[in-house]
Amino acid sequence: MKRFISVVFFLFLAIALSGSIYQQQVTSTVKEELNINDFNITPTPVKTTLTLVEDRMTVENPTYTRVPTPTPTPTPTQVSLPYVECPENGEDYICFGDYYKELPKTGWEDNNIIPKYIVLHWDGRPEKPYNKWLSTGTWFGLGSAKSSHFGVGIDGVGQFLPMFVDSVKQSKAADNWVFDAQCINIEIAGRNFNAIVTEEADDEMKTTIETVTNFTLELVVKLMRQYNISIENVLGHYQVLNGKVDPGDLWLQEYFLPKLRNLIEK
Ligand SMILES: [Zn+2]
Repeated sequence: MKRFISVVFFLFLAIALSGSIYQQQVTSTVKEELNINDFNITPTPVKTTLTLVEDRMTVENPTYTRVPTPTPTPTPTQVSLPYVECPENGEDYICFGDYYKELPKTGWEDNNIIPKYIVLHWDGRPEKPYNKWLSTGTWFGLGSAKSSHFGVGIDGVGQFLPMFVDSVKQSKAADNWVFDAQCINIEIAGRNFNAIVTEEADDEMKTTIETVTNFTLELVVKLMRQYNISIENVLGHYQVLNGKVDPGDLWLQEYFLPKLRNLIEK
């Protein structure tokens, strides 16, 4: 009986030991598979990975929905015309300005001329305040007896008379019938433009003259191209009528025309 008990005891011990060894083997396998050594690590890293994947999916989803949206075919760049049509007048009329506002008919001749010259003026308004150098002010200043095709101010370019593809209406600005019958007159708001060359202009005056000069340059280039006018025929009022000084000889010869030459030679 004693032997039987001993055998049973050893058998039990053997089973218990083998169970423990098996447990150790499983533990080692799990350790190897997970490649971690600390069993106290919680499954948090796995969760984090999942969260990241979810985040990535959330971020990528809108991109995915945007991709199939068809991209509109880009419209070919249109060659810009040197003029815009005047909606007020119809297809035969053309406009070069930022706006069209016709002067009273008493101030211009209702006959068409072929322009060969461009004559520049200043409208003579006081120097200060410079924020009053406006093309709309020029329009009112011309009144009902005088006219020019354009007024240029810090507010841009206003066209005041009807113009056509090959001809323009005759204005009364140069006070020289020979020239008025062959020219486009442009009134620039302000006075004493020479001050930008003599460096007598303060900063505000300088900026204002630069602004109206740039608008005038842009306009003159368009007109030269439209009516085939050469730079030699871009004149100042002082060159076509004795006693006039506008728009300033120094401004015209040393400031405006060199810039114009650069622009048309581009
Ligand atoms: Zn003048």
